[in-house]
Amino acid sequence: MASFPSDIEIARGADIKPITEVAAGLDIPADALLQYGHYKAKLSEPFLRQTGSRDDGKLILVTAITPTPAGEGKTTTSVGLGDALNRIGKKTITCLREPSLGPCFGVKGGAAGGGYAQVIPMEDINLHFTGDFHAIGSAHNLLAALVDNHIHWGNELNIDPRRIYLRRVVDMNDRALRHIINSLGGVGNGYVREDGFDITVASEVMAIFCLSRSLQELETRLGNIIVAQTRDREPVTAAQLKANSAMTVLLREAFSPNLVQTLENNPAFIHGGPFANIAHGCNSVMATTTALKMADYVVTEAGFGADLGAEKFFNIKCRKAGLHPNAAVVVATARALKMHGGVGKDDLGQENVEAVLQGGENLARHIRNVKTFGVPVVVAINRFHNDTDAELAAIREVAAEQGAEAFVCTHFTDGSAGAEDLARAVAKLADSGASQYAPLYSDELPLWEKIRTIATTLYGAHDIMANQKVRDQIHEFQESGYGHFPICMAKTQYSFSTDPDLKGAPFDHEVPIREVRLSGGAEFLVVVCGDVMTMPGLPRVPSAEHIGLDAEGNIVGLS
Ligand code: ADP
Ligand code: MG
Repeated sequence: MASFPSDIEIARGADIKPITEVAAGLDIPADALLQYGHYKAKLSEPFLRQTGSRDDGKLILVTAITPTPAGEGKTTTSVGLGDALNRIGKKTITCLREPSLGPCFGVKGGAAGGGYAQVIPMEDINLHFTGDFHAIGSAHNLLAALVDNHIHWGNELNIDPRRIYLRRVVDMNDRALRHIINSLGGVGNGYVREDGFDITVASEVMAIFCLSRSLQELETRLGNIIVAQTRDREPVTAAQLKANSAMTVLLREAFSPNLVQTLENNPAFIHGGPFANIAHGCNSVMATTTALKMADYVVTEAGFGADLGAEKFFNIKCRKAGLHPNAAVVVATARALKMHGGVGKDDLGQENVEAVLQGGENLARHIRNVKTFGVPVVVAINRFHNDTDAELAAIREVAAEQGAEAFVCTHFTDGSAGAEDLARAVAKLADSGASQYAPLYSDELPLWEKIRTIATTLYGAHDIMANQKVRDQIHEFQESGYGHFPICMAKTQYSFSTDPDLKGAPFDHEVPIREVRLSGGAEFLVVVCGDVMTMPGLPRVPSAEHIGLDAEGNIVGLS
């Protein structure tokens, strides 16, 4: 068998259409496009404003079982499903996050789908794209510069330099910047203090960018970012530094969604890309709400497994943006379920139906969890070439026990033709009116109870715990007017519990809360239950060593 072409080979072989043609398919006139070359465009602001009165299409979430190193394929399946819906005559837009540039040079590689289910031009999407991350990084770093500048010129707000929470950002995996000392070199350079960098996607500006529905809302929320405390332990906000208007100016153009196409020339919006741990892990509300106005179906992905991604999509994004999801797709693979069933990475190539059935308890709980939100579910079995029919049948059995249909999908190798059955089922479910979406908890429930509800209802935990300091802090946030905020859980993506090694569906565990952080502008309370990495590093042999240009100037080595 000839070896399967790499993602970038497939992407380069695509019959890519000018973006004006893709836009025409959505009745978007050429003068509503702000083009970045031939294949990428932002939608103009006046055009976005006039779409407001149209009816909304149906919203479909793609989420997954608990990730393993074996891979699940949420992005690939989102693209495959979007193409398959278009193939069966349903006007569909796929909405995805913009990939971070940093990880492309590490191990993870790109995030524009895979095989014959990709968004293109994949090199652009994975690298600088339309410059949104640059704009977000600039807005964030402007705020950081204003904080130190304020202190330098007399510190009228009485900022305590030991209690500055806002770090700086850069879109690169660079562990050397995690902890730094800044302002070295003498009086003219300000006050020496400890600081550090996060990767741009971890910025609160990114989360705010993705949750705001208008530039006005963006500006207000940016103003609510808590940058530091005063010597009297009072919060200091970006608005007090008069930073938020200038930050909004830097973000003005970036704020419009980016239109690109799939390998099959169907439309996709790729916009915003917040982390899925300290933020909510979904593409921008602007992109999703715009897409809902322009298509009958919108397929969107949430990061990590459904315990984090879908939970935050429902409890944060949908709640805040007034979205009503109509159906959800849980992506599962035989390989990942085998790992949940105890099989080691080196033995994944061998058939093991027992392990699939045992690991199936992970899938079963995710299905039940999504249903808890009132959203009907189907399972997409993302087929890998080693999977056996008996293993795939076992997954269908697991899903059926939970009252969910499961469809074997081969979009990775076959494009849209490989996900037609899934598309038909998803369209039917979305049209059925069966969704009774509601967030898991009310705004009014106290913060501590919200956290407990997530842990006990979705994670299978018997309780949450925290030391007195953390409890006091939650109490303080509750008392000082933040009690109505939703929760943004930051825990390992590799387990329902806080122990990444506990695969399957662990039960009766305890969820320890290590720390809480208030995201005043994003309007959620980040609950940290374990290590959260906000500045990744590069591996011993980074992908960067293999990335370059060939004789014709094409990029090679980007996966
Ligand atoms: P996620 O969005 O869940 O992180 P992706 O869709 O980005 O996952 O897929 C992760 C990796 O797995 C990508 O490199 C993709 O090309 C690969 N992949 C996905 N589905 C398949 C498949 N069916 N067969 C082989 N590789 C796949
Ligand atoms: Mg993805």
